[in-house]
Amino acid sequence: MKMSRMGVKPEKMAPKDAETINHKLLVQAGFVRQLMAGVYTYLPFGLKVLRNIQNVIREEMDAIGGEEILMPMLHPAEIWKKTGGWDSIDILFKLKSRTDRDYALGSSQEEVVTPTMKEFIKSYRDLPRMPYHIQWKFRDELRSKSGIMRGREFLMKDMYSFHLDQADFDRFYEIAKSAYLKIFARLGLDAKVTEASGGDFSEKISYEFEVLTDAGEVNILYCDACEFCANVDDLSQYKEGDACPKCDKSKLMSSVAAEVGNVFDLGQKYSKAFDLKVATSTGEQIFPIMGCYGIGISRTMGVIVEKFHDDKGIIWPKNIAPFTVHLIDIKQPEKAQEIYDTFKSKGIEVLWDDRDINVGGKFSDADLIGCPWRVVVSEKSMANNEIEVKGRQSDEPEMMNLEKFIGNLNSD
Ligand code: ATP
Ligand code: MG
Repeated sequence: MKMSRMGVKPEKMAPKDAETINHKLLVQAGFVRQLMAGVYTYLPFGLKVLRNIQNVIREEMDAIGGEEILMPMLHPAEIWKKTGGWDSIDILFKLKSRTDRDYALGSSQEEVVTPTMKEFIKSYRDLPRMPYHIQWKFRDELRSKSGIMRGREFLMKDMYSFHLDQADFDRFYEIAKSAYLKIFARLGLDAKVTEASGGDFSEKISYEFEVLTDAGEVNILYCDACEFCANVDDLSQYKEGDACPKCDKSKLMSSVAAEVGNVFDLGQKYSKAFDLKVATSTGEQIFPIMGCYGIGISRTMGVIVEKFHDDKGIIWPKNIAPFTVHLIDIKQPEKAQEIYDTFKSKGIEVLWDDRDINVGGKFSDADLIGCPWRVVVSEKSMANNEIEVKGRQSDEPEMMNLEKFIGNLNSD
């Protein structure tokens, strides 16, 4: 992408009304714009990052047998009345049509996925099934001041699973938990798994995936010697400084964290509500056990900015950066065009700042936008037929030839 052709440009200053780092940096660098509290437009750079995160999640969901679908956001009130959610879920956005009918905007999709899958799940041979989708969710949140981390409209991946019995559910639950940890690791995040109550969904066990960050809203206790982690709000039997109840090797530490994902055992709540029954191998009719598995995609993008930035701007992990290379030329447009074309022909995502502005401004915008590599083409570098390469977090640019740099990227 050439910056001279882009409508969206980075700003000199962060927005004054922004309270969080992700809001400030994402607006200043030109990734998002806020329409109102908790509602954002994703601009070209922001959309690229959102899609990169989605792709990692999609690969891991497909790898564990997920089948991607796309369910609607606009729901008839009847399905929410069937499960009681219409009256009990306070964050549900409700609206009326001009013919006075009631509708809800999806805050979650159990009420849609269960009657949909009922058409396809008739016998034990049709199980297990794991449909998932990536879709915008709506929640009437009271406080939406954490930038894109708490939206009233936000992007979620939600998977739902249907199983013949508890044993099969338990088997898949572990697989899903491992896939989640793999996803967060690929996104550059160290996610801790807490045990927590099932919240609105059921009395069964659920697990939250928490990333330590001051911008989060969850108080957790964790052990640095093992993977023990508890949500303090749910599991008040523990306190800071207690010996770790799991390994006894260290003392529990407290921190604030952001919930990036959540998995629930839904039991038979929704299969019963929608009368989804299957025939077992002996001909008995039973209600399948269901699970649901959410990841807050837009929140995760915000958490990544909170974790990976410095006073100059964002530092994107390489798997989700909007571009791998940020190319800057110092009065070498022909040579830069050649290098730009080479990157593109090798499938390397490249942003070329070909604007007619001073080079200092280009350097500070490169730091603000936060691509992993800055490549400078100048008369000096070209004297030896080289480019100047600098990692986003390094202070030391290095001279090398283009082939060597591309080779390094490919082996990275
Ligand atoms: P929270 O406790 O933060 O309100 P939740 O437990 O109600 O979240 P879930 O129903 O478990 O959320 O949704 C699955 C995932 O969607 C969460 O783990 C979180 O990452 C994300 N999420 C939930 N609410 C929001 C929101 N308002 N804005 C952005 N992401 C959200
Ligand atoms: Mg949750």
